[in-house]
Amino acid sequence: MNCLECDAGINIPGDAAVGEIVSCPECGADFEIAKKDGANVQLKPAESVGEDWGE
Ligand SMILES: [Zn+2]
Repeated sequence: MNCLECDAGINIPGDAAVGEIVSCPECGADFEIAKKDGANVQLKPAESVGEDWGE
């Protein structure tokens, strides 16, 4: 799995669950596991607390 921000490799534990947060070791960006299908993991940017949805 690669970071969506800097393309560094992110190690996803085999037992990681959907909704878990993983951090990029390179840029520190947080990603949430959006989907998991076997070894196929899809990440989405994790919204930090105090999210800015700009309503
Ligand atoms: Zn990164």
